[in-house]
Amino acid sequence: MRNINKELVFRCIKDNLIISKKIIAEKLGLSTTTVATIINELLAGNKIQSCGSAKSTGGRKSILYEVNPTSGYAVGIDLQVDQIVYVLLDFAGNVVSTKKTDLTDKSEWAVAAVLNKEIPEFVVENGISMEKILGIGLGVPGTVHGQSEIIEFAPNLEWENVNLRSLLKCKTPIIVENEANAAALGEKGFGVGRNVANMVYVSVGMGVGCGIIIDHKLFSGTSFNAGEFGHMTVEPDGLPCKCGKRGCWEVYASNNAALNLYAAKSGEYFDKFEDFIQRLMVGEKIASEVADHIAKYLGVGIGNIVNGLNPQLVVIGGKITETGDMIYDKILQQIKYHTLRRSMTELEIQFSALNSKASAMGAAGRVLDEAIKML
Ligand SMILES: [Zn+2]
Repeated sequence: MRNINKELVFRCIKDNLIISKKIIAEKLGLSTTTVATIINELLAGNKIQSCGSAKSTGGRKSILYEVNPTSGYAVGIDLQVDQIVYVLLDFAGNVVSTKKTDLTDKSEWAVAAVLNKEIPEFVVENGISMEKILGIGLGVPGTVHGQSEIIEFAPNLEWENVNLRSLLKCKTPIIVENEANAAALGEKGFGVGRNVANMVYVSVGMGVGCGIIIDHKLFSGTSFNAGEFGHMTVEPDGLPCKCGKRGCWEVYASNNAALNLYAAKSGEYFDKFEDFIQRLMVGEKIASEVADHIAKYLGVGIGNIVNGLNPQLVVIGGKITETGDMIYDKILQQIKYHTLRRSMTELEIQFSALNSKASAMGAAGRVLDEAIKML
C-alpha cells in the first residue's frame, strides 16, 4: 500500500537536501514520533542516510539526513530523429553521466536493437549494475497513449502505433513519454522551471511540440494529445504539414522550416541543422533572413499560447537556442508583439537550461518519481 506520509517525508528530505527530524515534522505538520518511525524505515531500506548534525535550540544536537544517492538509479533517454541522448540520474536526482549516439536507421526494429545494446552498455560503463536501475524513461517525438504508452503517431520517425516497450528487453519498468512533455518535466524538476506552477515548454526541433505544466502538474488532455500546438493553424490554406492539414505552426517555425526556406532562398539544402546555425553565427545574410522568419512565427505561436494559457514561464528548447542572444531578442520582440499586454507583465521567456538533456532528464525524473511513490 502507498504510504503517503513516507513519500512526504522522503520528498521533504530530497527537496531540502539536508534536514533534521524536527524541521521535517514542523514543515509537514506531523508528530516527531511519526517522522522518527518513517526515518528509521527509510534508513533501514538505505533510501536515506545520516550526514552529520546541527545544533538545535537548547544546545542539543540534531542529526541531519539526506537522500542516499546510490540507493538506485534511473536511465533517461531522449529518442530524437537523428540521435539518442542518454542520461543517468542517481536517487537524489544528480546527473551521473550523459551520452549521445547517432541514429541512422529510424525503423522501430533498428531503434529497439540499438537501445537493447546501448542501455546496458551505458549503465555498466558507469560502474553500475543493471540491478540498481529502477527504471527507464523514454522521451519520444510523437503522441503517446497515456495508459498503454503506445507511440500512436511520430511523423518525423514515420511511426504509427508502435509499442516500443514491448520491443525492449530490459526487465526494469519502462516509461514512455512525449519528448516535449518530458522536457517540460525536466525543466520543472531540474532546470529553469523549479518552483514554477504554470509553464509551457516549447520544443523546437524537426517539428514543434509543447509540454504544458498547470498547477505544478503535467497537463495531458483527454486523449493525451495536449501540447500539440505545432499543429495549430497559423496560415489558413498555407503549406502542407505531415499531419495532413495545411498551415500548421511547425511548418513555419521548426528547424525543417528553416532548412526549407534557406534552400528556397539560396538553392543550398543542408542535411544538418547545425550547418544552418553555423551560417547564422557568421552573420550570413540569407541565414539571418531565415532566422527572422523563424523568430516571427515562433513569436506568433508563443503569443497565441500565452494569450490562451497565461503561464508564468515559457521555456524554449532546441538547437536554435544555441545562437543565444542573436535569436532570443528577435523572438522576444515578436512574442511581445503578439501577446496581450496584461499576459506579458508577469511572463518570463527563457531558453532551456538543460538544452539537449531536458527530455532525457525529465523522463528519468519520472522514473524516480514513480520509485518514490512505491517507497
Ligand atoms: Zn500539422
